[in-house]
Amino acid sequence: MRNSLIALFLVLFVVPALAPSARAFQQKSQPIIDMHLHSYDEANYFVIPDNYGTISPPSAEAHFDATYEIMRRRKIVLGVVSNTASSEEAWLAKDEDKRFIRGFSFLGPEEWTPESFEKLAKDGKIDVFGEIGAYYRGMTLADPFFDPYLKICEEYGIPVALHTGGGPRQVTYRGSPKARLTMGNPLLIEDVLVKYPKLRIYLMHSGEIFYHEALRLMLSYPQVYSDLGVVLWVHPMPKYYGREFVRLAKEFGMLDRVMFGSDQMVWPHAIDLSLEQLDSFDFLSEKEKRDILYNNAARFLELSEDEITRHHE
Ligand SMILES: [Zn+2]
Repeated sequence: MRNSLIALFLVLFVVPALAPSARAFQQKSQPIIDMHLHSYDEANYFVIPDNYGTISPPSAEAHFDATYEIMRRRKIVLGVVSNTASSEEAWLAKDEDKRFIRGFSFLGPEEWTPESFEKLAKDGKIDVFGEIGAYYRGMTLADPFFDPYLKICEEYGIPVALHTGGGPRQVTYRGSPKARLTMGNPLLIEDVLVKYPKLRIYLMHSGEIFYHEALRLMLSYPQVYSDLGVVLWVHPMPKYYGREFVRLAKEFGMLDRVMFGSDQMVWPHAIDLSLEQLDSFDFLSEKEKRDILYNNAARFLELSEDEITRHHE
């Protein structure tokens, strides 16, 4: 979600504080891949309570330290990071363990053209194209604006990470006048999948309110994956969608394309909340949880056998 929108939570969500679950996570020694993280530096960071009243760390540096500490403690060996270019550079410079996968989003003051984008792709500076917040601009990925970029992604094998579903309350009145819930419907990207059948793409937040549509799209287009993102933690309503999505993905045989993501934004503890929520899904076997936490993302990201072995050491 866009940084400028997160401030909305302060005034819009007034919900009694909930203590994080004390439930022990049973798979601590196994590697995890987080397909949905956001970076910050002093220029784009802000301090604000989450939906349950827990305040974000006091500075961008403290936020990085807390995120990295949780990644080490939870054995999150890889995380797709996106946000402003400067905050990503700052995070990559501090990434001692080489845990970060570089996302690319259109946030920030930079002006991008297909030519400058292709140069970055050629130089290996884009690992993932996203998070793409087309919804906040009242657009879908099928908008002609994205077409040259998607062509480059297909050509260079760069995975695409698309925000699906809605955003914070009143977002259309506060900062994103063009945002429309209907634009978050994954079915609206169908033309992209027809035009670029080799494009590797995942639906961030698994469709959120459009979780049925996400599943139907995944049934028709077997190259489409999803990450869970905010539907594991941010608010009771998305959490309901997330639980239903995972339950139905299992029932319909598509769980092997569902990936873990936290979308921690300015709240590093959301990574813990997300892992605890996933672990609480008693309808999943331990193997299915392992697939969501690591194996499905390893396949989607086309990790080498060597890398996978190293992660399990
Ligand atoms: Zn996000």
